[in-house]
Amino acid sequence: MKLLITRPIDDLVLAQAEERFETTYRAGEVPMSAAEVTAALGEYDAILPTLGDAFTAAAIEAAGKPRCKVIGNFGVGYNHIDVAAAAKAGIAVSNTPDVLTDATADIAWTLILSTCRRAGEGERQLRAGEWKGFDPKGMLGTHVTGKTLGVIGMGRIGQAIAKRGHFGFDMPVVYFNRSAKELPFDARRIEDMHELLGVADIVVVAVPGGAETVRLIDRAAIAAMRKDTIFVNISRGEVVEEEALIDALEANAIGGAGLDVYEKEPYVPARLTALENCVLLPHLGSATVETRRAMAQMALDNIIAFAEGRAMPQRVN
Ligand code: NAP
Repeated sequence: MKLLITRPIDDLVLAQAEERFETTYRAGEVPMSAAEVTAALGEYDAILPTLGDAFTAAAIEAAGKPRCKVIGNFGVGYNHIDVAAAAKAGIAVSNTPDVLTDATADIAWTLILSTCRRAGEGERQLRAGEWKGFDPKGMLGTHVTGKTLGVIGMGRIGQAIAKRGHFGFDMPVVYFNRSAKELPFDARRIEDMHELLGVADIVVVAVPGGAETVRLIDRAAIAAMRKDTIFVNISRGEVVEEEALIDALEANAIGGAGLDVYEKEPYVPARLTALENCVLLPHLGSATVETRRAMAQMALDNIIAFAEGRAMPQRVN
């Protein structure tokens, strides 16, 4: 079987892939265009793609009856793959849930703490040689312990974020989610998202991307936040109306923002990078050695299961 791996992955997992399949891999970080996707679907039996690779319905349909029968996505989020179009073309798709939950919750907390405590701003000041010494009134931030945490999307990652807030920072937790959840810690469900946005001191978004959640956090949602709300997004850039968020940050209409994802990433608007009241990370959610290895292993294991005629453990379509 011919396997295409669309980005460099962990060496140990790559060695397993090369042992098992006739393996080709793309170098560099640039995602596949729709035309490249269509060509690859005709050329390979299996593909291990990731974020940004454009498996649109049009790209899949253009491949007709594709040679490719399995896509083992590297990542839990698969909004770059039209899984219904894939199913229609006879292609099974899997993802990599659970193995990245803790790493991504940790990045959410990195953003919560560094936004609340102005860590990015402070580090920039120090490196610029502008720090004048300890100042009782200098660079005061937002106290985190005991504040109300609002989680939008109480799935695997949302729960891991909430768990850290509840047990580690004594935070009351409120959440907005499509369905009610049985949770192993106290958390109050609020069914009106705008109400949650007015109640929570710190809001974290952890829903999946895709048609159902595009601009879930739109201008009206941002307006429902308070002047001191700290807003964090680790989900997908498309979930937030970025321009409205920038307008609010520029006007100091909210307290600050911590972002790991962007509407048109890797493009980040200059209006955003010019602001001091936000902390900006380059999509680091799952970026630990251990997590990225586990993700690569899970993606490959799903492809191997398919190749051996077994059920794919993490199939999504
Ligand atoms: P998950 O377990 O499927 O959780 C998603 C949660 O969002 C579910 O509880 C779901 O509700 C809820 N939800 C879905 N649509 C909703 C809507 N329209 N309104 C309200 N709630 C909604 O997924 P996960 O493993 O936690 O991952 C979540 C997302 O995080 C991924 O899809 C990915 O996009 C993103 N992510 C980002 C990074 C990063 O590097 N920044 C890393 C990993 C993941 P139900 O319980 O009703 O299904």
